[in-house]
Amino acid sequence: MSDHMLTSAHPELVEGSVKGLRQALPERDGVQLLNHRADFPGLVTANGDPWHYLDTAATAQKPHAVIDAIARAYGRDYATVHRGVYARSADMTRAYEDARRKAAAFIGGREDETVFTRGATEGINLVAHSWGITNLKPGDRIMLSQLEHHSNIVPWQLVAERTGAVIDVAPLTYDGQIDLDVMAAMLTARHKMVALAHVSNVLGSVLDARRAADLAHNVGALLLLDGCQAVPRLAVDIAALDCDFYVYSAHKLYGPTGIGVLWGRAGLLDAMPPWQGGGAMIDRVTFARTTYAPPPQRFEAGTPHIAGAVGLAAAIDYVTGIGVEAIHAHETELVEAAQEALAGINALTVFGPRASAGILSFALEGVHPHDIGTILDEGNVAIRAGHHCAQPLMDHLGVPATARASFGVYNTLDDVDALVRGLDRVRRIFG
Ligand code: PMP
Repeated sequence: MSDHMLTSAHPELVEGSVKGLRQALPERDGVQLLNHRADFPGLVTANGDPWHYLDTAATAQKPHAVIDAIARAYGRDYATVHRGVYARSADMTRAYEDARRKAAAFIGGREDETVFTRGATEGINLVAHSWGITNLKPGDRIMLSQLEHHSNIVPWQLVAERTGAVIDVAPLTYDGQIDLDVMAAMLTARHKMVALAHVSNVLGSVLDARRAADLAHNVGALLLLDGCQAVPRLAVDIAALDCDFYVYSAHKLYGPTGIGVLWGRAGLLDAMPPWQGGGAMIDRVTFARTTYAPPPQRFEAGTPHIAGAVGLAAAIDYVTGIGVEAIHAHETELVEAAQEALAGINALTVFGPRASAGILSFALEGVHPHDIGTILDEGNVAIRAGHHCAQPLMDHLGVPATARASFGVYNTLDDVDALVRGLDRVRRIFG
């Protein structure tokens, strides 16, 4: 393991302290912790016991409001969009386009700049293939970072292979943030795209996105932000961030799988060729020549994920009803409580910055993260163990995998408590 140990054991809490965890946890006064557990039917085990779900960074549980909206969309409201001449289809088209407006407004964007995709992965692939293939030439450079999810690495590698562009990797600071000082020194006029995670799915580190945008724009490059982990936990305003593309997935935002959002500046989207062809994305088709619809329809070939869009709209309503800032404050309290409690466990290393947005990765010396995950599962605590689709980051940390606890609006201090009790059990089992 390399020198990325950011939270060392607190001697006063080591050994036996876990039993007294409730007392060891600090008062969370000053910040109103949320209590939305009852909104989420998934948070019980098959036996009806509480399920301590700490894998929200992989996918969030769904509130009743979202499940009900999806059921209605597939039930009494169901019809196709954009093509039907009957009233039900017109109503569904309105719902689908309302969802687009909400998905855009949620990050401060315009609906004509907002494309529905299958998820963040597809959004990045769309930009890489459509914008990338058209604009990148041999010798052009793409700037990524050491902490990117594979979704923000592999699409660029595929495009680099086809265009002759070269990928550079911005390093991390000692506490797991993208090192923008070093990145600034690496950027050149050959860089055409800078593509970075707004929040790391492994470390919870938050990018200074505005500075990244300024650095990219100073050399004439564009900035794409992977907002998968940011959108559920930070208030995002793309105008303030000054990015050029922003992607997110509904399923990490308490919405359904299979739908996500690509926001792009109108001028960029307008100049981009279609990525996939089919119905709904055309203006006029003849065998001699086909012309395409303007964005966003140009990038939505085929029948879209209609119920998914309705579910995403319900998720956005749910989250805005609570307030992203309140969710962020709540998760921050839980992360701090977990950091303090984990610091009391011998031989446990927490990776990443103190100011983590809802995500904690850790390792327990001598225990494989999969074993941690399995033993925690026996106590109804669900964490993720593995490389988190960020193998270059694992290489940097010098570990094959980490254990990761990630928090959501529904988590409580009981979940932190269950996590720490579970880790105590892991330690006892492994001696
Ligand atoms: N980027 C980040 C930072 C992520 O956390 C994830 C999901 N783990 C993705 C991209 C990919 O998102 P999706 O699988 O929803 O396309």
